[in-house]
This record gives sequence, C-alpha cells and structure tokens, in this order.
Amino acid sequence: MKLVVGATTDVGRVRDGNEDRFLVEVGLRLFAVADGMGGHRAGEVASTTAVEALRTAIAQGCSLDAAILEANRSVFEKAASDEALSGMGTTLTAIAVGSEHAVVVGHVGDSRAYLMREGELTQITEDHSLVEEMVREGRITPDQALVHPQRSIITRALGIDAEIAVDLYPVELQARDRLLICSDGLTTMIRPADIARILRQQPDPQRAADALADAANAAGGEDNVTAVVIAALPADADADAGLAVVDTAIAPTIVAVTDTTALRRLDPSRVTIDPVQTRAPAPPDSAASAAAAAQSQALRRGRVRSAGTGTFRLLWWLVPIFLIIGVGIGAIWWHARNSYYVGLDHQTVTIYRGVSGGLLGWNPTVARHTSVRASDLTAGQVTDLRDGHPFSSQSSAEAFIQRLQLQTSTTSTSTSSTSTTTTLPLGGLSPSTSTTRAP
Ligand code: MG
Repeated sequence: MKLVVGATTDVGRVRDGNEDRFLVEVGLRLFAVADGMGGHRAGEVASTTAVEALRTAIAQGCSLDAAILEANRSVFEKAASDEALSGMGTTLTAIAVGSEHAVVVGHVGDSRAYLMREGELTQITEDHSLVEEMVREGRITPDQALVHPQRSIITRALGIDAEIAVDLYPVELQARDRLLICSDGLTTMIRPADIARILRQQPDPQRAADALADAANAAGGEDNVTAVVIAALPADADADAGLAVVDTAIAPTIVAVTDTTALRRLDPSRVTIDPVQTRAPAPPDSAASAAAAAQSQALRRGRVRSAGTGTFRLLWWLVPIFLIIGVGIGAIWWHARNSYYVGLDHQTVTIYRGVSGGLLGWNPTVARHTSVRASDLTAGQVTDLRDGHPFSSQSSAEAFIQRLQLQTSTTSTSTSSTSTTTTLPLGGLSPSTSTTRAP
C-alpha cells in the first residue's frame, strides 16, 4: 500500500492573516494541521512552533504522543518567555504512519481527522470544544452547534498549560481509505455531508483538498481553512506526479504508543458512520449507549483535571464581552438612578426617582410627595402626569412642581375672585386652566 497526499491552506474571505499551518513530511511519514490562536499574530507563532517542534521530535525518534507533548512544551515555553505571545495556543491534529497499515491520529483541540471508507465518512477525533460538549450532553443538536455563537471556544489546546492530555486514535488503514485532517475553518463552514460528497467526487487528494477549501470559502470563508487529504492506494496504483507519496512497504516503526491510558478507539456508538450527519445521539436504552455515556463521563472528568486552568485561560477573550455587557448594564443603571419624573401616587402629585415604568428591573422610587393633588389639575395635566413627566434632575422636577403650585394657587384665586390671572408656562404640559377675566 502507498499513501498519496494533497494539502492546502487558505486565509479565507474574512481574516487578514492565516494562523493555520499544515505539515506534510513524507520522509517522516507525518501529517498535521495546527490552528493557532492569540492576538497580534501570536496564533501564527503558536501553530508554526507546534508543527516544527512536532517534526523535530518525530525526527528524533519520539512516538506521536511524546512528540505532541514536546510540541505543547515548546509553545508553552515560548508563550511564557515573551509578553507579546502570552496566552497563545494552538490545536494540533497529527497522523503518524507506522508499519504497513497502522496509523495513529494524535489530537488536541477542535481541528478534526476524518476517515472515508467505502464512501462513508467517519469523524475520528472528538472536538475539545464547548459546543461539542454541549452536543454530547444533548443540550444542542449538531446543526445548532454549527451556528452557535460559542462554537469557536475550545477547551483544550497546546501551549496553555505545561502538561496536556493527548487523545490518540489508532486506525488500521485499508486500501482506498482516505484520511482528512482539517481545521475548523472547514467544518464550521460546510457540513460533514458536503465534505463526504467532495471527497467522493474528487479521488485526487490535492484536488480534493483544494475543492474543500473552495467550498469553505464559497460558504463564507469566515476562518482560515486547511485540509490535508491522504489517500491509501494499492502499491501498484498510479499516482499523479507532484503529489507526495509515501511507500508504506518500507516504513520504519516510528509510532510507538507508550501511554495506553491516552489511547482512544473508534467507538461505533459514539461516531456515526453516516455520510449525511455525524454525531447522531445513540439510542437511549442500548447497552452500547450506556457504555459510551460512562466512557464519555469518565473522559469529561479527566478533561476537567487535565484542562484545568487551561480552560480558564482559553476563555480569557470572553472578558471584553463581559466588560461591554457590564458597561452597558452600568449605563442603564446610571440612567435609571439619575432620571426623575413627576407622576401621580394615587391622587398626590409625586416626584419619582427613576424611569416611569421601570427600566430592566430598576423600578422607580418616591423622591417626594408634593402638596399638589390631582383634583387641583386639569384633565390634560392629569393625563400627562399619569404617563410620568420626565426630568433630567430632581431640581428641574422641583421647579416644575413650583410652577404647578403657583399656577394652581393663582387659578383657585382667580376662580374665587374672578380677577385676571396669567397662565404660567408649564413646560411640556397641556394648556393650563383657562383664565377668567373680570367682566
Ligand atoms: Mg480556525
């Protein structure tokens, strides 16, 4: 059997820079995709550092899991040594080819590895992401995850902690299998069914990788997109010139998985081999489902321990969002507490602090009951005060009350003495009681 490889990366339609990196090392029989994160180009540094450290470690004879741990250490130390790179991290999904048919997928983050076998697409890796956890817990559907506002939050990444848990998935390759490693710029833009369709339509790995990136861009290209497609072919199959070809017949055994606790196996009850959708929930009462749930629960607990402060630090970018929300709530609170209005408390004209009707749970409070009664006012004035007559300060509300008091007293004087009165301006109020002229 031989492997034929095609790979592409594209900045997408929205981003300024490309923080994705891929690695196709035919000589080392190593393939990887890393998707970096961090401000001011730190994401590019993180993904580049990770793939270079991975390559170096594999070249020195490390097993895939040890090499990924080495990559984690490299990114972590670089982030700690430079203030400008602080907090950077990266996903890393890598495939190491061992003897003849054995490959191992090593995985941290939300880039993905897929296996296409006999036209059916299987997601090999499990995302270390918030929305994927929500899907597994049945809180959202896979379709909702695709458009969820928190879909880019990952719960595990290289470079965040000194130690990291690496998921390993051994796969026994069959001739005509195809493996895909891709960044989330592909899987958040197009559905697994579309990925499967493109892989079926394009047997050539390079054309398939290019077509996948094109499809992500056609769907909006909101993120950098990277795809590495590895086709397993019979040893005597022809391959186009220019494609990276790995002859597995002369493979040295470079993948020595030592940490069996990190070894993950493809679980048919967890990973749906359905080209139309992935991650359909398992039937509720089956034994397989219970076993998968128990395994998933155990892994989740393990993840909490291993992710630890990493999860916390990964969420650091949520802080500005909370700050904006906090400032918004503060502004509303300030407005609610520094506004006044004159209204009616039963029949008493009253100065209130706050906004008439309340604002986002902040209800108005009585600042002062005045001596003016509703019965002293015209029908128009009463209607106006029922709605609450707003003022920007208590002093302007008090001035309004003074005018109201003066007007009601002069009105009552004029009524009793039938002498001439002057209508006082009542800012915003309907015309005052009519003046009575002496005959
Ligand atoms: Mg991405």
